[in-house]
Amino acid sequence: QVQRTYNFNAGPSALPLSVLEKAQAELIDFRGTGMSVMELSHRSRPYEEVHNQAISSLKELLAIPNTHEVLFLQGGASLQFSMIPMNFLQPGKKASYVMTGSWSEKAFSEAKLFGEVYHAASTKEGNYRSIPTINELQYDKEDAYVHLTSNNTIYGTQWKDFPDTGDVPLIADMSSDILSKPIDVSKFALIYAGAQKNLGPSGVTVVIIRKDFLESANTNIPTMLKYSTHAKNNSLYNTPPTFGIYMLGEVLNWARDLGGLEAIAKRNEEKANLIYSVIDGSNGFYIGHADQDSRSLMNLTFNLKTPELEKKFLDQAKQAGFVGVNGHRSIGGCRVSAYNAVPVEACQAFSEFMTQFQKDNN
Ligand code: PMP
Repeated sequence: QVQRTYNFNAGPSALPLSVLEKAQAELIDFRGTGMSVMELSHRSRPYEEVHNQAISSLKELLAIPNTHEVLFLQGGASLQFSMIPMNFLQPGKKASYVMTGSWSEKAFSEAKLFGEVYHAASTKEGNYRSIPTINELQYDKEDAYVHLTSNNTIYGTQWKDFPDTGDVPLIADMSSDILSKPIDVSKFALIYAGAQKNLGPSGVTVVIIRKDFLESANTNIPTMLKYSTHAKNNSLYNTPPTFGIYMLGEVLNWARDLGGLEAIAKRNEEKANLIYSVIDGSNGFYIGHADQDSRSLMNLTFNLKTPELEKKFLDQAKQAGFVGVNGHRSIGGCRVSAYNAVPVEACQAFSEFMTQFQKDNN
């Protein structure tokens, strides 16, 4: 039995052990080809199967309607911050951004380089502890699109319901909660996510885009930065990150075998509750960052009463074998990332560690 670390990294993050074992078993001779997936031509039959299987598994798991296409791109979610306004912020139009954290800010700043943008709402004043209510959003019917970040990896907040923006295209950065629960894809004109949290290793960016929205894109942009280039070529315009897509496909098979997104959502709730219940029952020893109704089930953020105690907590957590519990370098504090592949036992062990630490230091 291999010894696996309790991995709470925010991304890249834990992958399912069974997927790693399968990749290991297939590494040298992929399904009788006598080579690894990494060595296959991206134009070969065996690779095409891997590629198309990953696309169809994602469509199935997320119940993606036929109105939408799945693309596998590169450049991370960060390149999407630029590709979205390049493609969809038409001259004379405005785009609105819902500001719920650092990643929304990055997306907004990038869009500003291409045209007129404004805030549909912002929770910055409250130190990004919350998600705005749907009624608080202010955007214009004529906007090119509304952009939101479904899960705020750094502050630990998450949207529970999404707005219905009618004819205004809704775009979501779902990097840190895609595949963690069922979503209604039909509400969105575009969804994007870097793979390195719930989907697989870094290097692949998943884009789910509505076909008619895709057709409305600007045309005077570089070939590689047009969504239509990749859509027309089944994400094989140039060499895709083949190994990453293979891993993504295997992660999707694993997710399906776990019972699909309903079952995964339930498991994620159970995992998060193991830790939030310790925070809530701690009489203020642990201080959750997010407002309760905005809490993320993926990134659980909290502080201790003093910087000294927090440091002691983080040091002891590390010594006890819990990896990745430090908050993001921009805000500090503590953060447990409990993505899909983090087992229930890891969260159980950490909640016990938290309880014990409080007993020892109260
Ligand atoms: N958006 C969110 C919500 C993220 O969490 C991250 C990465 N942590 C990014 C965007 C940036 O992703 P990438 O590193 O893939 O560019």
